[in-house]
Amino acid sequence: MVLLGAPGAGKGTQAFRICEKLNVPHISTGDIFRKNIKELTPIGVIAKGYIDKGELVPDSVTEEIVRLRLAEPDCKNGYLLDGFPRTVAQAVALERFSKVDVVIDIDVPTEKLLRRMTGRRVCEKCGQSYHVDFLNGKTTCSECGGSLIHRADDVEETVNERLRVYAEKTMPLVQFYQDKGLLKRVNGDLPTDEVFAEILKVLE
Ligand code: AMP
Repeated sequence: MVLLGAPGAGKGTQAFRICEKLNVPHISTGDIFRKNIKELTPIGVIAKGYIDKGELVPDSVTEEIVRLRLAEPDCKNGYLLDGFPRTVAQAVALERFSKVDVVIDIDVPTEKLLRRMTGRRVCEKCGQSYHVDFLNGKTTCSECGGSLIHRADDVEETVNERLRVYAEKTMPLVQFYQDKGLLKRVNGDLPTDEVFAEILKVLE
C-alpha cells in the first residue's frame, strides 16, 4: 500500500495508525534518510545535501534503499510506503520489485500545508508528528517519551521549495495511479480521527 499526499498532508500520522491497525511495517523513506543522517552513514551524507535544501534525493539512491527494505522478512505479508514513490520514475522502479494493491491520496488544500508544516514538531525517537497549536507547551512525545524537535526542513523557505518540488515531481503520480485504477482519494482537511475513518472505509 502506498500513501500519497503533499508534505504536511498527514501521511506520517495516518501511517502510524494504519500500520498499527493492519499490523504491517511502516516504511518511510524520510525516516530512513533521517536515521542515516544521524548515524553519519555514506547514504546519510548524500541525502543531507538534498534534504536541507528541500530537494529530492536522487531516484537511484532512494530506489535502492526501498528495494533492500522490502526484501526484509517483515515485509512478506505487506507493508505501507510513506513518502515513496515521489516521482514517476520511482513508481516504475517499484513495479519491478513489488506489487502495489492500493494507493491512498490524502488531499489537503495547498494554502493549509505551509501552516501545518512550519508548526510541526516531530518525535526524535519514533517520528510521531504533532502541531504546536495542540501541544500546550509539551516538549515530549506522548507515544514514547522522546524529545519533540522542529525539523530543519520544516522552516518556511525550505517548506516552500518542498511544496514546489511536490507539485512538479510528485503530483503526476496521482494521474499515474489513477490510470492504473489503484488510486483512492480521501479528504485530509478533517480531524485526524475522521481522516483515519475515511481511510479504513476505503480499505474495506
Ligand atoms: P519526508 O519525511 O517524507 O517529508 O521526507 C523528507 C525529505 O527526504 C524529502 O523532502 C526529500 O528530500 C527526502 N525524501 C524522502 N522520500 C524521498 C523519495 N521517495 N525520493 C526522494 N527524496 C525523498
